[in-house]
Amino acid sequence: MDGKKLAEVVRGEVALRVKAFEQSYGRVPGLDVVIVGEDPASQVYVRSKEKAALEVGIRGRVHALPAATTESELLVLLASLNADPVIDGILVQLPLPGHIREIPVLDALLPEKDVDGFHPANAGLLATARPGLVPCTPRGCMRLLASLGVSLSGMRAVVVGRSNIVGKPLAGLLLAQNATVTVAHSRTRDLPSVCREADVLVAAVGKPELIRGDWIKEGAIVIDVGINRVAVPGSDPPGRTRLVGDVCFAEVRERASAITPVPGGVGPMTIACLLENTCIAAEAREARRRR
Ligand code: NAD
Repeated sequence: MDGKKLAEVVRGEVALRVKAFEQSYGRVPGLDVVIVGEDPASQVYVRSKEKAALEVGIRGRVHALPAATTESELLVLLASLNADPVIDGILVQLPLPGHIREIPVLDALLPEKDVDGFHPANAGLLATARPGLVPCTPRGCMRLLASLGVSLSGMRAVVVGRSNIVGKPLAGLLLAQNATVTVAHSRTRDLPSVCREADVLVAAVGKPELIRGDWIKEGAIVIDVGINRVAVPGSDPPGRTRLVGDVCFAEVRERASAITPVPGGVGPMTIACLLENTCIAAEAREARRRR
């Protein structure tokens, strides 16, 4: 499954949606991204989100705060973004520095502007199969599955990983499509046997190439969410690294009917779905305002 290509399609759809929004409301949707500290990987993610937003016509803005920012200073900024009528989506880049608690920060966002879908109100809406803002990575996984054109109804889906940002919301989305869902995690006994049951297997663990070829049912669909940087042994020059997923691609591709690569699978879909969420949030806010 080519996530890069599908993400381009989604971005094209978003660009059209942004144009229609502008025609209706005389402004473009606005996405504000907040980053605290100098974590290099987070800085790259934030810049790529800003660039992707601008490319589809969304007004993107980054608030880069120093690592010494206090939790209450961050909460003051979030309150001002919540109150700003031209901001439709707010995203706080994780992880936050150790002295700032994640829960009060995520809870401080207005649920209607929470384009990451991490606020408990949005998690609750997803858990009760009601419309809300859905986390971007699970949404991207579902779009990849939808692109295969197969019904998930009655399929056995195994999600490895139970994080609040990937595993749990994805399990909810698969359930909403009538899959029979198992969530496996670090305490699961005999993980290979659990995985062998899967018609759809999603790995969101953060362990390089954990999932091996003989864990896969013949013909299964495999989505690899993991992004792990590993050293290239004997590289010249030494010290080179590469990205691998949680799935051993070379082995698993031999048995799977479809598989996402790393990079170029779920990653590009995450950003495309963030842009889509920003449009959804903007449209819903304007619709509410006019009601
Ligand atoms: P996390 O660390 O919050 O959760 C990992 C989960 O894996 C936990 O629920 C844990 O129980 C489970 N786990 C750990 N070791 C295990 C084992 N040996 N066997 C079975 N389960 C095990 O991670 P996360 O935030 O959900 O991210 C998971 C991976 O996905 C990471 O590699 C992350 O970089 C990647 N990720 C990618 C995207 C993307 O856009 N592609 C987005 C988010 C996360």
